[in-house]
Amino acid sequence: MKILVGELIHEGNSFSVERITLEDFGPVYGDDVFAPDSRVRGGSAEGIINTLREAGVELVPAFFGNASADAALIYSDYEKIRAAFVQALQDAGEVDGICLALHGSMYVDGEDDPEGDLLTVLRKLVGPDIPIIASLDMHATVTQRMLSVVDALVGYHTAPHVDRYETGSKAARLILRILQDGINVKMECIQIPMLLAGEQSETNESPMKELQQAIVAAEEREGIFHGSYFLGFPWADSPHNAVSIVVVGDAKQGEMVVETAKELAKGFWDRRREFRFTTEAYPLDEALRIALSCTEKPVVIADSGDNPTAGATQDLTIALRGMMENNVKNAVFVFVVDAVSQQRCAQAGIGAKLELALGRLEPVPGGSPLTVQATVQYLGTAQGIECAVVDIEGITVIIGDKRRDSSDIRTAVYDPEFLTELGLNPFDFEIIVVKSGYLSPEYQAIAARKMLALTPGDTNEILKDIPYQKVPRPIFPLDEDMEWSI
Ligand SMILES: [Zn+2]
Repeated sequence: MKILVGELIHEGNSFSVERITLEDFGPVYGDDVFAPDSRVRGGSAEGIINTLREAGVELVPAFFGNASADAALIYSDYEKIRAAFVQALQDAGEVDGICLALHGSMYVDGEDDPEGDLLTVLRKLVGPDIPIIASLDMHATVTQRMLSVVDALVGYHTAPHVDRYETGSKAARLILRILQDGINVKMECIQIPMLLAGEQSETNESPMKELQQAIVAAEEREGIFHGSYFLGFPWADSPHNAVSIVVVGDAKQGEMVVETAKELAKGFWDRRREFRFTTEAYPLDEALRIALSCTEKPVVIADSGDNPTAGATQDLTIALRGMMENNVKNAVFVFVVDAVSQQRCAQAGIGAKLELALGRLEPVPGGSPLTVQATVQYLGTAQGIECAVVDIEGITVIIGDKRRDSSDIRTAVYDPEFLTELGLNPFDFEIIVVKSGYLSPEYQAIAARKMLALTPGDTNEILKDIPYQKVPRPIFPLDEDMEWSI
């Protein structure tokens, strides 16, 4: 039995002024994915690969790439990725199935539904009878085109996503049931007109916690294999944006599959007004004032409007300016991307004092570039990022030359270890301002208190302030009093 496997993970922020390229995916082709140091480790692609291998399946590895969350991809490089999948399929001759690890909210300049496009191209090549299954991120934007060509979509059950490997494994086990046990699958998707930020839908907090429990309970039913909430991605201006409830089950129990999806969708919509920030959230000045009055340390504040884990450029200095204006000391700012300033610091050397125009060079209201007097304290590399650690009016500021290294899928702002690698002890600071949305488990573990600062930027948490043009209307909560029923 031969199954084509591959990975394409990218959560595309359509508001970012930047564009990414193929290289940002750290692309791996064909058999190279089986190398011991392969970067798919721990993710859904590895779950798919290991589960199918253990079942004795011959794998046809296509393309593997993970750009995490970032700006939109240029179209010509998307075409190269699609061509790599097509080439692998054509080289393999016939396959019995296709099982892919996708994100679902990819964004390409000139193509607002790349996963739908890719899956359609693959479907045309293999014909209608070969099963195609994809695992998706919980923040996937499910489209009609995707639904029309796949047999099943299987999503994460957790946010933060700690079940990525397991989800890939579930997708693989499902395709094995189809191919080995001859099961026919029925998939039902109900879409709710709703935009929802990840910062209001962590699965260990209400109401997502109970909604997720309802999915798990539904999966216990006879004939139901998988249920998923796909929450969409509010920082893409997409005509496909919605919350999607997908239930996959035995075609013999088709009615049960449909009824279960309806029940879960109704349960979700009924609780729509209960979604709130799962972390204390304040305007920046208020967050800083509260942090300054805290006796325990460190207080960790997310600069949520410039959150690279949702594709922001990470080059805004609005939060830093706020820290300076509020006379914040003994704090660290993690971290602003500015390759020119980082290089100037590196050339000046440790101990040097210099004036920097910090942050994005085009003027941004309230923030960048920010003229500062900096003293270089440390120069080094952390997670593949060249960094300068400088002191600015008593605030330790990390300046990086890029958001992330494309050979390392770890997101630097997710892990306090990034500070340690630069010779900084996170517990030395009273306040840590980190460019993030909801805090990673690692930052939550060290935070004496955690807050979201509601700053402007590419990942503005105040969705009503975002200049959407393509998002379908009406949509909750932009159209707060809208009616909807199944
Ligand atoms: Zn996600």
